Formats: sequence, structure tokens, C-alpha cells
Amino acid sequence: MKFQEEPADILASLQELRDADAPTHGGRVLSYVYDSGLAELDELAAAAIRMVQPVNGLDPTTFTSVATMEREVLAFARGMLRGDEEVVGTVTSGGTESCLLAVKTARDNWRTAHPVVHAEGTVPRLLAPVTAHAAFQKAAHYFGLELDLVSVDANGTCAASALIERMGDDVALVVVSAPSYPFAALDPIVDVAAAAAEQGIACHVDACIGGWVLPWQATAPWDFSVEGVTSVSADLHKFGYAPKGASVLLQRGRDRQRAQYFATTRWSGYPVVNPTMLGSKSAGALAASWAIIQALGENGYAELAASCERSTAALQATVNGIEGLRVVGDPVGPLFAVETDESVPEDRRVDPHHWADQVRTHGFLLQLQPGFTQSDGTRLPPTTHLTITPVTEVVLAELSAALHTSADEVRGVPPVAVAEVLAALPGGALEALQAPDAPPLDSATAAALLAGFGLGSDGGPAALPDRMAPILALVGALPAPVTERLLTELLARLIEPVSTAP
Ligand SMILES: *Cc1c(COP(=O)(O)O)cnc(C)c1O
Repeated sequence: MKFQEEPADILASLQELRDADAPTHGGRVLSYVYDSGLAELDELAAAAIRMVQPVNGLDPTTFTSVATMEREVLAFARGMLRGDEEVVGTVTSGGTESCLLAVKTARDNWRTAHPVVHAEGTVPRLLAPVTAHAAFQKAAHYFGLELDLVSVDANGTCAASALIERMGDDVALVVVSAPSYPFAALDPIVDVAAAAAEQGIACHVDACIGGWVLPWQATAPWDFSVEGVTSVSADLHKFGYAPKGASVLLQRGRDRQRAQYFATTRWSGYPVVNPTMLGSKSAGALAASWAIIQALGENGYAELAASCERSTAALQATVNGIEGLRVVGDPVGPLFAVETDESVPEDRRVDPHHWADQVRTHGFLLQLQPGFTQSDGTRLPPTTHLTITPVTEVVLAELSAALHTSADEVRGVPPVAVAEVLAALPGGALEALQAPDAPPLDSATAAALLAGFGLGSDGGPAALPDRMAPILALVGALPAPVTERLLTELLARLIEPVSTAP
């Protein structure tokens, strides 16, 4: 067939689009991407993806390479997470899917174990520190569990007792993190898992971010060596250095794990047996993960973890050496959050969001995290998040200098005044939005509000601002349902088809 456009031209257009992306390599983006810094590892992954491009991961009995690769990836992960013969698992499409499936498994096992209260309509509870990843909120929403989120202290740490005292018959799953994403706190896993085991409650360790790096660092125990831990999630597409689309979910006990599966023969097509959410699926990220594990092995991962550990220590020292800023709490692993040091006079303080915006002008992208009021009324401050990867070591001097310079440039600038941001709203609009009987925002109203804040434009793709601090102030100030609706509108409009002339 003669294509309507030449492949070379098509790829040139794609290259142009890619050039506008945030840089995925070189250590300039300190979230989202996990760069081993090894170009030959990326090449290997690309070749592996190409080799399985036409395969359907839906059926490992037809495409036997899928079963073999998955079995071998899981064997490596099980050893790494110190699981015994009773630990089995699945490769999933990412951390969110691993978390969703851990919750789905726990809910279904809870129903089986509590047939009477379940029949009476008791809604099972998902218990976790408020710092547990948002994927668990999504899981509770999708699978109909009640969320019970426990407040953390100013260091982002959750007391074991605070979780243990809320345990009860209706708890289907308690979630702890190794470490948490927002503040890199290692939750009190040993104590929580022991209490959960005593009461017959499942305990999931979310090691999505730590799973492929903490095994090569000295930490308190958090994996399957801890009694009472019933499942662990660990993302291959983070510190496993695989391309996006791969994570593992390991579960202790075959019988427990079988509740993860969905199987039906009750239709007129092929029998469906799915361990994960998708049906037909790519084997690409699995093949890439498998190849990367063969290449790196234990020693390769250990070497990369050591690089992360060195860079993290150096950057934490940098931040703690900057007047007006400090590292939050006692972070574990290659990530940490930065907050204002309130022990210095106001005119010497550095707002973490102005700082992040300023660092961006020096060529590095940090992640802004909003201030947040917990259910006990205490407030977690706005922070800026850094995830460190092996490639960070290459740019360490330049990055440290950027962190210092940027702080000097915004020191004393007060945080964005929420009142100023809200002034963009027409009079009475905020009160109307906050009213308990306020109707849900429709798309047109939401878009108009966004435009008032200078976000998005009519018709064309939404323009995103250079400075994120005002947006984050807005997120911290508006009622959550309103912000969630506005952000939904922003993202939905971003991909609305643009009409072309007939
Ligand atoms: C990244 C992450 C997740 C979610 O993973 P995705 O791969 O983004 O879906 C869950 N938990 C933690 C702690 C994470 O860091």
C-alpha cells in the first residue's frame, strides 16, 4: 500500500512533538522518570519491546514466551523481597494496577471470610496513613470500600498505635508504605503487620517506589521477611528502570492470591481468565523488564542503588545547608520532600513552591506538593518533592548550584496569597461553590472558571502557566471537590479533538 504520508515524515513530526516534552534523560526531571543513566540498557529494552511487539499478553498458553518471562521476573522479585515458596505474584501494568489488585484481592477475601456481615451490607474498610498513595483512594472508589485515612505527624510519619487502634472486623486491608511517596516516610510496618496478623486482617506493603531500590540499602525490615505482610507491590517502571507499563504484585499464599483473578466461562466466546485488569495486553514492558533484570542482576541493581544513595545524601545536605529550607522528617530511599524552615525570620524563609518555580528557570523540574489539612485538623505544609535516580550523579554539581541560587533568588518572597488567587473569581462565586447544596459544576462553568484563573483557552489546547505556585495555592484553597472538578476539566479539554476545516 502507498501510505498517504511517508514514514520518514511521520517520524519527523513525532520527533518534533517529542522535542517539546520535558527531557526524559539527563537528570533534569526529578519525578516521573527513572533514568539509570545507562544508554545501552535503554537500547536493550527497546530491542526487547520490538521483539514481542505483535504478541498478545492475554494468553500465556498461546504465547508461551509471556509465561516464561513473567515467571522469571517474579522469581527475581520474590528473592529480592525475601519471599518464600508461599509467595506468588503477577506482573501488572504499573503501580496503580498493583495497588488496585491488592485491594480487590483483600476485599474479595474479606467477603469470603465475613459472609454474614457482608450479606447484611457492611461496607469493608481500607485503613491507611493519609500519605498512602492516591491509587488506594482510586481502589476504594472503584471497588466500594470505605476509606479510613489516619493523620500523620509533621514529619509525615504515622504512629503504629494510630493505625492499630482503628483495626476491626470490618477492615479488609491495612496499607503501609516503604516508603510513602509524599515524604519518603517508612511506615511502622513490623508493628502494624503483627497487629493485623493477630486480627486476621490483610496487610499490604506499598513498595511501588522503594521495592527495587531499598533491598540494596540498610533499612528497618519492610518486606516478606516481616510476619503478617500479605502482599507487596514494587514498580519495575520506577527503580527497576523498565519503560512505563510494568510493576509486580506479590502475595503470600496461593489461596489468598487466587482472589485476584477474574475468570468466566459464562459467555459464548473463549474462556476468560485474567489475573489483571486488562484483557488483550502488550508484552512489551514485561519483555523489557525481563531483559533489564538479566542484564543488571543483583549486582547491577546494587550498584545503581548505591549511586542513588550517594546523590540523595549529597542533595539532602545541600538542602539542609540552604537558609530558609529544610528536608521534611527522616526520609528513607532515593526521594525526599523540602519545606520552609520556619525557625528562621520571615524575611529569610524560602517558600518551597517559589523555589521549585525558580529552579525550573535553571533547567531542573521539581514536583510541587500542596499544603493539606488532615482529618484531625492539623495541616501538612506545602512542600517540593525530589526523586533521585542514578543519572542524578552526573548533574549533581549543577543541580546543587541551581538549588542554592534559586533559594537566594526567592528568599523572603512570601507564599502566594490565596486571597489574591481567589480574587480572579467573580464576586460570590466562591461562596456559591462552597455551599453544601451547590449543584455539580458543568463543563462550561468549569472552563469559564479556569479561564478566570488564566488556565486554558477557548477552543484550542489549554495553555499551561510557567509558574506553578499559584496553581498549587489554588489546590490548597478551594474545596477538594471543586478543585478535582476543575482539574478534570483542564485535563479533559487538553485532549479534546480540534476541528479541522472540511
Ligand atoms: C508511583 C507510586 C504508585 C503508583 O504507581 P503508578 O506506577 O504511577 O501507577 C503507588 N504507590 C507509590 C508509593 C508510588 O510511588
